[in-house]
Amino acid sequence: MRRKLAAGNWKMNGSMSAMSEVDGLVKAHPDPSVDILLCPPATLIWSMASMRGEHPMAVGAQDCHAAVSGAHTGDISAPMLREAGASHVIVGHSERRADHRETSEEVLTKAEAAHAAGLVAIVCLGETLEEREAGRTLEVVGAQLAASVPASATGTDTVIAYEPVWAIGTGKVATTDEIAEVHAFLRAELRRSHPSSAAEIRLLYGGSVKASNAAEIFAVPDVDGALVGGASLTAEQFSPIIRALE
Ligand code: PEP
Repeated sequence: MRRKLAAGNWKMNGSMSAMSEVDGLVKAHPDPSVDILLCPPATLIWSMASMRGEHPMAVGAQDCHAAVSGAHTGDISAPMLREAGASHVIVGHSERRADHRETSEEVLTKAEAAHAAGLVAIVCLGETLEEREAGRTLEVVGAQLAASVPASATGTDTVIAYEPVWAIGTGKVATTDEIAEVHAFLRAELRRSHPSSAAEIRLLYGGSVKASNAAEIFAVPDVDGALVGGASLTAEQFSPIIRALE
């Protein structure tokens, strides 16, 4: 049985004053029956990890470098994130694939680095609007899955997030039929590529998830939770999404 995961991606948002949101979440979910994860900017990982105290909420990062250390100005390695208090790291988010021209091959090396450091890798994939309209969605996400997910991935160290690029931060949500099609496809692909762990690897949906659409999305087969951007920034918005998973 895959445990549900509500993961929040703060992107380049948040400051020390936003730590009150963590306090709000922890108080709203003192004994959560689902996994909760927040991925703030790297500068806030340590503070957030301290703020959640003994609460099981996990703290993650939004990217890591593939190397452990070295001459990579501005980058942060997976062991550094771990030392700062992170247990998870998002890799291959579409904003990084677009803004930093990250390829699936680079995403794979980052996921492997995350695993080597003992971090759970949340591997993101998803098609652009142009690719969807050309009928290439399954081909695109299938290729990203094959190239970005380590061969050794298990349900313990890897989560996959399907995030249609056209649904991220746009308010446009994929229909439940569209989500169901892609998630069933990804599960089937995993059964071929990762037969021993396919049933355990969690598949999240991401793309304009909010309180008003969460329950409907979570009812879709093979949706094991969500990766939430904008609506994870406040406890008031994120908490109902967590509750919809419980
Ligand atoms: C994301 O950042 O991964 C995301 C899904 O953003 P939003 O929920 O704001 O669309």
